[in-house]
Parts: sequence; structure tokens; C-alpha cells
Amino acid sequence: MTGIVYKSTGSWYHVKAESGVFYRCRIKGKFRMQGIKSTNPVAVGDKVQFELEETGDDTFGVINTIEERDNYIIRKSVNLSKQTHIIASNIDVAFLLVTLNNPPTFTTFIDRFLVTAEAYHIKTVLLFNKIDVYDEEELGEIKYLAALYREVGYECLGISAKTGKNLDKVKEMMIGKTSMFSGHSGTGKSTLINALEPSLDLKTSKISTQHKQGQHTTTFAEMYDLNFDARIIDTPGIKGFGVVEMEKEELGNYFPEFFAVKQECKFNNCLHKNEPHCAVKDGLEDGEIAWSRYKSYLQIIEGEDEQQYRMDDFP
Ligand code: GDP
Ligand code: ZN
Repeated sequence: MTGIVYKSTGSWYHVKAESGVFYRCRIKGKFRMQGIKSTNPVAVGDKVQFELEETGDDTFGVINTIEERDNYIIRKSVNLSKQTHIIASNIDVAFLLVTLNNPPTFTTFIDRFLVTAEAYHIKTVLLFNKIDVYDEEELGEIKYLAALYREVGYECLGISAKTGKNLDKVKEMMIGKTSMFSGHSGTGKSTLINALEPSLDLKTSKISTQHKQGQHTTTFAEMYDLNFDARIIDTPGIKGFGVVEMEKEELGNYFPEFFAVKQECKFNNCLHKNEPHCAVKDGLEDGEIAWSRYKSYLQIIEGEDEQQYRMDDFP
């Protein structure tokens, strides 16, 4: 049988078969891990094959194969250094909720998120939430940001989880897919999910409490079906994707607008910092590349902590 892993409790996996029926599954003792070494061989989101086994009056599934993952997100295991834990896999789209204030979401945070999503090969959509509360000037700022990120290649949408504005469009983007919702705490993730699917209400409030204790305990991702042919993966205690380790030379590849011009840099290993004839720096000069994006790039490459530049800091 073929199915998708919705939940993992360590030794048991909850797998939804194509028939729609859920099975409790285990893995075989000698299970071949797919791709990377991790503390968990099977992750939420995995497409698996399993066979039913009966012992006494108990029936459960035994997973024997994982289909190749489209993508996956990982976290370094806290106890076992160098070991990774796969949080979730096969994510079709990550929605990043952005608010200008209460709480503020800075471009450096957005850019770090996008870099990681690029490295993980996960499509991201930016949702500018709470558009019901902004004044003219703030709406202008959102328009500016949306235009900037659209230009780079990301879909952007202004929404209000509270009034329901544009939620039909969010739904449309979710149909037939597995989605993840990320963003700072307070940007409206729970409100949005509740608005999309009121019957999940109980679960999400349970999830939110787990978030609060989640810091030091092990938390597991879980997948939920919504009532309109869409799935969401909830990852308690994980606000972003964490940080992917990468070489300095690689970083520019995850800024799509830098990647698009890097062939024109004089040096093919150009870090776009002080090198002569750098296409990225030229792009900055002619306004083709946004200063905020370049500042985020420098921060990451220098290993600096996230800090915010105000719009007026840029030429
Ligand atoms: P989460 O931490 O990301 O799950 O955020 P919540 O869903 O708990 O929302 C945080 C606060 O923002 C709550 O007081 C919500 O009522 C409020 N909120 C969420 N979405 C909107 C919105 O679109 N407009 C307004 N005005 N408030 C919102
Ligand atoms: Zn360059």
C-alpha cells in the first residue's frame, strides 16, 4: 500500500493510505535510510509504501520504502552532534506571514527565510497580513515591499486573516498541495489557519500551547487535512527553517536576482563584495538590485546577527 506520513511519535508513524484510511505503522528493523543520515529515518510528509502485518488481534503497517523526497527541512539534533533530524518533507509551498508592526517583520528576516527556502528547494509565497489595520503610508510600504519581492520572483499577496480579505486567493494557492505557514509569533498564523478551516480550531489552539512549552522538549511536526483538498504541516516551535550550512560562494545562488547576473561578474567565484567588475554591484548602482537585499546578503556572508536597516539607510 502507498500512503503519506501525517504524524510520528518516535516509534509509530500515522500513515494515510490512498484509500483515506489511517494506519499505525512501524519501520522494519533493518531499514535503509534514504539520502541523508538522520535520527529519524521517516519524516512527516514522506510518501511511503507499507504492508499490513497481524500479531494477535493487532494489525499495523510495516513501512518498507520511502519515495524520493522533493525536499525536506532539517534541524540539528541537540544531543547528538552532527546528527540531523528531518522535520518534514515534500512541502509544496511555504507561506511566510509578514506584518509591518505588531510585530515588525524586517527585510533581513524575510531574506534569511527566503535564502533557506531556496536552499531547501521550497517555493515561498509572502503573505502581508493585517492589511485591515494599516494607514496610507504603511500600505505604501507594503506595496513597495511586494513590488520588490515580486521583481525577485516571489508571489506576494496582501491579506487580512481577520476580515477574510484575499483568503480565497490563499486557498486557491493551497489546493492539492501541502503547505507550511511561517512567520514571527503574532503575525497571525493561527488566526489564518482558523479562518481557512474553522474545524481545526481545537487542534491549533492545542498546537499553540505546545509552542510555548516547546522550547526544551522534543516537538514533532504534524500534518492536517483541510476541508478543501489541501494539507498543512504544522511544525511546533519552529518559526523559520533554521539555518542551512553553506559555503560563502554558494550564498549568492540563493538570491535569485544575484544568480541571474553572476555570469557577468569578472570572477566566477565573485562574492560580490570588493571584486572589480561585479554585476551584482553594478545592479545595485543602476537600481536593478535592491539595497535591502544586498545588505541582507552581506549580513549573512559576514555571519553577522540579524539587524535591521531602515529604508532611509539605503541610497
Ligand atoms: P500567531 O502567533 O502567528 O499564530 O498569531 P495569532 O494568530 O495568534 O495572531 C496574533 C494577533 O494578531 C491576534 O490578536 C490576532 O487577533 C491578530 N491578528 C491576526 N490576523 C490579523 C489581521 O488580519 N488583522 C488584524 N487586525 N489582526 C490580526
Ligand atoms: Zn559579483
